[in-house]
Amino acid sequence: TRLKYRYLDLRRPSVQKAIILRSKILRATHEYFDQHGFINIETPELGKSSPEGARDYLVPSRIYPGSFYALPQSPQLFKQLLMGAGFDKYYQLARCFRDEDLRGDRQPEFTQIDMETSFLDEKGVQDYTEGLLKKIMKDVMGIDLKTPIARMSWNDSMNKYGTDKPDTRYGMLIHDLSPIFKDSDFRVFSGVIADGGYVKGIAVKNGAKAYSRKKLDKKQDYIKRYHAKGLAWVKYEDGDFSGPVARFLTDEDKEALKKEFNLEGGELIVFVADKWKVCCDSLNHLRREFAKETDIIPKHVFDFVWVVDWPLFEYDEGRGRWVAAHHPFTMPDDEGIKLLDTDPHKAHARSYDIVMNGDEMGGGSIRIHKRSIQEKMFKALGFTKKRAYEQFGYLMDALDMGFPPHAGLAIGLDRFAMMLAEKDNIRDVQAFPKNANASEPMMHAPAPVSKGQLSELGVEVDSKYSDSVKKTEDHLEDEAQKDADKNSTWDKN
Ligand code: ASP
Repeated sequence: TRLKYRYLDLRRPSVQKAIILRSKILRATHEYFDQHGFINIETPELGKSSPEGARDYLVPSRIYPGSFYALPQSPQLFKQLLMGAGFDKYYQLARCFRDEDLRGDRQPEFTQIDMETSFLDEKGVQDYTEGLLKKIMKDVMGIDLKTPIARMSWNDSMNKYGTDKPDTRYGMLIHDLSPIFKDSDFRVFSGVIADGGYVKGIAVKNGAKAYSRKKLDKKQDYIKRYHAKGLAWVKYEDGDFSGPVARFLTDEDKEALKKEFNLEGGELIVFVADKWKVCCDSLNHLRREFAKETDIIPKHVFDFVWVVDWPLFEYDEGRGRWVAAHHPFTMPDDEGIKLLDTDPHKAHARSYDIVMNGDEMGGGSIRIHKRSIQEKMFKALGFTKKRAYEQFGYLMDALDMGFPPHAGLAIGLDRFAMMLAEKDNIRDVQAFPKNANASEPMMHAPAPVSKGQLSELGVEVDSKYSDSVKKTEDHLEDEAQKDADKNSTWDKN
């Protein structure tokens, strides 16, 4: 209902405030880039489909029936080509489109603060980004952001926070307890370690009283979705350990745990014994939950951190293959360039993400500016020569024509605005967003179009959708009739 009558919803002061905050970010961004000699260049919205990333929104061509434009997922290659064209500092508030399943922090269309520079290294791009963030935080929030923003390696982030989006507002870090338990008689722990796994855990202050066995059983059920086999726990109260795992702990283990976590009394300690990734995923989830539930997250704090030294590739379980961790145009580090020939999936990337309060605000990288490296990258991603050149021949061609080293970054404006406005849905910072089913209930988009329009485009709707098209058409007709009956002065005019 709020979205159907969005123009009324937008009258409410709290809703207006978020939209005005967004506008202030836009203004600060334009001012900042203008002051620093960046050129605002718009790139096309009608481009070519590139099935690498998320699903594309396609636009049928009338002039070439059967052919389609794709709306941009980001202006990545256009901005790189602009560096090749000699515009050394580019920025754009770019509309991007990704046809993904929606969540609270996703909308089908969103805006990126997009930038690219020639001849700068990581630090150069990060300095400009920090300058921009400093200005936005000051102009919009009245907050003095301290720079330089801390750097954390991807590895540290995964090991201490269980995620590449660390929430640095509070501690409760993940500890690797494998050294303590590798020789333990408790086979559930030592067996996993012997098989190459880990025992990791976190200590929840005041958790001993706050968490009953029943509550912990629920958490155990939840982390099964990360393939965790179980959740072990102990409580430390009045100088002693209790709970299901306590009786397996030797005096030595107990002392080691006390030292490791600096236990003071009243803590709950949870353990996950599993493969590295399973430990990371489940303890990341648990850490966030425990922090929320025990109310240790400071309010009105905006804590930024750079996550650096990323792997170049990651294995996508869903697609059953290696994909680029950032995107296929990211430069490997020096060692990684050599590894492209021998063991590409071990390579590291010259990429960086900017994270705030446990959420990714943006990311970027040094780009590949040599054809030979770009070709190796495509090879490592499983492209054939034919497919690589069909899709990206123009890029490889351009790289041969005197391409400067270049690097850039993009910040997801909507998510950033949402977090500064302390809202939990991106909808709240977009004037006319889509609902969770990717539809817009005021104008009724998407909607069927006339047969005439379709035939002009050479497009036909599969007959298996006839019923649902008919249903939508009937529904829209009913709605129109209702609107017409309500207050229309049509017949009097
Ligand atoms: N185009 C990238 C993205 O959308 C950002 C960048 O590398 O500049 O994530």
